[in-house]
Amino acid sequence: MIAAVVGLGAIGTPLAWLLAGDPRIAALRLIDGDRVERSNLPRQVLYRDQDIGRPKASVLAERLGHPEWAVPERLDAGNAARLLDGVDVVGDGTDNWPTRLVIDATCRRAGRPWLFLSAIRWEGQAALMAPDGPCLRCLFGAGQDGPACFEVGIVGPVAGWVASEGYDLLRRHWGGETVRELRLVDGWRDRVQVVRWAAYACPHGGDGRRVG
Ligand SMILES: [Zn+2]
Repeated sequence: MIAAVVGLGAIGTPLAWLLAGDPRIAALRLIDGDRVERSNLPRQVLYRDQDIGRPKASVLAERLGHPEWAVPERLDAGNAARLLDGVDVVGDGTDNWPTRLVIDATCRRAGRPWLFLSAIRWEGQAALMAPDGPCLRCLFGAGQDGPACFEVGIVGPVAGWVASEGYDLLRRHWGGETVRELRLVDGWRDRVQVVRWAAYACPHGGDGRRVG
């Protein structure tokens, strides 16, 4: 299988590391247009001082032993179909809602699952989004107006925790289980709540727009 990870920050780097070690994964597509900054180093533990100024995608691909996995581009509505073409699953390491909506729409159109992951302060969320299940708008309403994680901060261990919760959902999916759940990580109270849903038809026409 080929997996893409979009956004190689505090969540995307541990997710890429977990996927790279999974024998079911033949290749990764590591997608991020940003370069390593000094402020990234405390939470994004696969980057080092000497990487500052280099594309995150290239640095991480090299560190995982596969320079050819690097895709140093910023994913957007115009290039998503191309960048995600042929992958079996997409992991969300982004820190913003508009990019998640693009991933959601692109994956639904292509009939492939993707892993929604987010962390903010001490809280995190993980869900496996399937083409025949609820879309982002079904789960969260018209959009998230709250602050982005780069504005209010993210607790490093919570990001790694969310990535591993997401990876666990993926493994169950690969094991043949129908995974319909959202995991809510509370790093402060050290607990995970699980929200499950039944079979469900999204009314938004697969591209985030409401139909009827
Ligand atoms: Zn929907």
